[in-house]
Amino acid sequence: MTHVVTDNCQKCRFTDCVTVCPVDCFHLGEDMLYIDPDECIDCGACVPECPVEAIYMEEDLPDDKQEWVQINADRAADLPVCNEKLDPLPTAEARKTELGF
Ligand code: SF4
Ligand code: SF4
Repeated sequence: MTHVVTDNCQKCRFTDCVTVCPVDCFHLGEDMLYIDPDECIDCGACVPECPVEAIYMEEDLPDDKQEWVQINADRAADLPVCNEKLDPLPTAEARKTELGF
């Protein structure tokens, strides 16, 4: 079991989540973050931090977001760890509004 970042993070990348992760398992992609399933300890601390509700416990993933389990595993393996808050992407506020948050 792991936690999973989904498409709501795309174009957003607020990075509030990384500051609470006790095991530094977030990895930095071009337009979103990914969680390394081998490192995540399922503490759940990141879920309420995300302003666009992009993070799910794997067992809570909606049917139409199941593909993100494998995407997170694949991408996290190739990308650097992100454990410090970064400036959001320039598109972040527009994306947040588009998502209804
Ligand atoms: S807080 Fe949410 S939107 Fe921001 S980087 Fe983390 S998962 Fe992505
Ligand atoms: S559930 Fe905990 S260990 Fe897993 S990514 Fe979120 S903060 Fe990190």
